[in-house]
Amino acid sequence: MIYSKPTFKEKYHNFINGKFEAPVDGQYFDNHSPVDNKVLAQYPRSNEKDVKLALDAANDAKDSWGKTSVAERAEILHKIADAIQENLREFAEMDTADNGKSIRETINADVPLAIDHFRYFASAIRAEEGSATELNENTLSLVIREPLGVVAQIIPWNFPLLMLAWKVAGALAAGNCVILKPAEQTPASATFLAEKIADLLPPGVFNVLHGFGPEVGKPLASSPRVDKVAFTGETTTGQLIMQYASKNLNPVTMELGGKSPNVFFSSIMDHDDAFLDKCIEGAVLFAFNQGEVCTAPSRLLIQEDIYDAFIKRVIERVNAIKMGDPFDENTMMGAQASNDQQEKILSYIKIGKEEGAEVLTGGGAAKLEGDLANGFYIQPTMLKGHNKMRVFQEEIFGPVVAVCTFKDEAEAIEISNDTMYGLGAGVWTRDAHQIYQVPRAIKAGRVWVNCYHDYPAHAPFGGYKKSGFGRENHLMMLNHYRQTKNMLISY
Ligand code: NAD
Repeated sequence: MIYSKPTFKEKYHNFINGKFEAPVDGQYFDNHSPVDNKVLAQYPRSNEKDVKLALDAANDAKDSWGKTSVAERAEILHKIADAIQENLREFAEMDTADNGKSIRETINADVPLAIDHFRYFASAIRAEEGSATELNENTLSLVIREPLGVVAQIIPWNFPLLMLAWKVAGALAAGNCVILKPAEQTPASATFLAEKIADLLPPGVFNVLHGFGPEVGKPLASSPRVDKVAFTGETTTGQLIMQYASKNLNPVTMELGGKSPNVFFSSIMDHDDAFLDKCIEGAVLFAFNQGEVCTAPSRLLIQEDIYDAFIKRVIERVNAIKMGDPFDENTMMGAQASNDQQEKILSYIKIGKEEGAEVLTGGGAAKLEGDLANGFYIQPTMLKGHNKMRVFQEEIFGPVVAVCTFKDEAEAIEISNDTMYGLGAGVWTRDAHQIYQVPRAIKAGRVWVNCYHDYPAHAPFGGYKKSGFGRENHLMMLNHYRQTKNMLISY
């Protein structure tokens, strides 16, 4: 089935205090589609004046929103999920147009997962209602959770609607007002969501500010009128945002970059063909869905005694990847998110070659026909080398996998941990000892074993080391968005 670009209006606005508002200074920027480099629409180039309006609205709304009952908030979150569900196809097409990623991913994974995140937190807050403990027969201990107030949430472009859902669902469920800044590359689905849910929430509870990081993200994160800053993006940007928030001693959640190892042990070859096929998919699929995923398995570690046989099968599978029009549901790899992103990825491929890495497959831009010739496409690329090379150490955020071998379990763990990041990892083995011990030894917030790339709402997600701190999803996220008050009542 062929999907298509949705129809965009010429110009969109910020969503502040329940209304769409033009930017105070009247400035807009063009948003291009990386599919064909055509302009999709214009969005506000907001600045601190627009930030002030959103802060006024959210601060005015926070007391009454924070006092809504859990049942009321849960009901609204379910209605937000319904609104996305009813427009699932349009949300998916919007994210594909904006980001360039294949429709098979947005329609089958990103948007359904976003819906599930709202439903999960709607149910989670109901499930934890009601608890009090008697300290002794004269004293009651009450643990009360209170919303923080107004939270600033700044998100990247790689999963436009899903990153929004990861942040917004838990924050609203906990009773906070949200000011969201989507990435300037992918502003569409946040705007579309605001249109669809404008009547569901009281004015000021959910606000969307468009624009560029230094012009709108910085004043937002620096403001003493926010009570928390949650950020997903590059590690270096996260370091800046922590500095801004620290002036107000504001708590932060940091979901940052990664360089995830995907480790294949010899025992995968000893078993049935179906398992081996699964391993090959596990080495390829999640690295080459454009590769713009924070947990992309961008370092492929293969035990040396199976290297020749395994890499041959992997390369065959990579070469069979269907690249092309992201709106074709058979396309596995679409466009990279922007011209800048394409140039960054190409520069890393060049660096890898200069460092002496062997190009196993790919190695350059992909040339597509027709309108797509103006889009930003890269061949799925595998570079063989060693873990000290820059292409093994630095986040490329594209369809480039760095491949190396290891002798034994100890070396696999050592290489896996030899990076400043600690976000995701994959371990593939049929050995019962390794199934438990290797993931335990890898310093990462999420380790998949004999699978990769699931992101259920109930599984806590976040990084070790320079991949950040704090967790999203799971019940524990709620406490990153609440104060805990203990009342000891004697009677
Ligand atoms: P980025 O850091 O360039 O931008 C992210 C957001 O921050 C954007 O909205 C941007 O406008 C804003 N921003 C930029 N500079 C700012 C500043 N000085 N002050 C305030 N805001 C600023 O990241 P990106 O290129 O959009 O996204 C890719 C990165 O995101 C990768 O490093 C990837 O690993 C990471 N990521 C992490 C996770 C996770 O959960 N750990 C998930 C997705 C993406």
